[in-house]
Amino acid sequence: MAADRSRADSLRWMAQGTVIFFGALAELPDDLLDQPAALDGWSGKHLLAHVAANADALVNLAHWARTGEERPMYSSPAQRDADIEAGATRPAAELRAWAAQAAETLDARLAELDEQQWTHAVRTAQGRTVPAEEIPWMRAREVMVHAVDLGAGVEFDDLPADFLAALIDDITAKRSGAAGPALALTATDHGRMWTVSGDGDPAPVTGTLAGLAAYLSGRRPGDGQWPELPRWL
Ligand code: ZN
Repeated sequence: MAADRSRADSLRWMAQGTVIFFGALAELPDDLLDQPAALDGWSGKHLLAHVAANADALVNLAHWARTGEERPMYSSPAQRDADIEAGATRPAAELRAWAAQAAETLDARLAELDEQQWTHAVRTAQGRTVPAEEIPWMRAREVMVHAVDLGAGVEFDDLPADFLAALIDDITAKRSGAAGPALALTATDHGRMWTVSGDGDPAPVTGTLAGLAAYLSGRRPGDGQWPELPRWL
């Protein structure tokens, strides 16, 4: 699953994604943050609170990797959701400042890790045990995909192609281990194919890297052309 991406790739994508996310956020006026976002029942403020809290949560994992002292991302799924709800009631300026500060702190904490600490096992909010090297990948995924969700004009087409290919690697691997339809995916602009194991004969899905990533991440409906997918993450 992590086969083709290096730590350097993930750190680069995290940095690029952070620039893309905060660039999009800067374009979004405060009053639009109160509007519904592209995600189930969330406003832009919920999304921003989630992205800020995600950086704080990954700082916890960086601490765990550096010291060996177990520090989970969130104390519980209910606490995670409650913190997003509470965050969404805060003034926009506070939320913007929290998100920016949390992203900076995460950068600083990751920069402190030495070669050995990067290999230390930590646990994700989904309960997977992964090496600390997954932290920048987890963050890259959040800032890149949620930059699109902000609705400020960033589309999957605007994300780096090598990141999109790595995202498709990640999602197809996860979807292959979960319930859902079997898929045979072909990228028209990348010379790559992916499969998702699942129910039935594999449904052929052909599109650009950006189109496949949007579809697989649940950001683009199948429109009767491609099978509808269960939730990812
Ligand atoms: Zn997220």
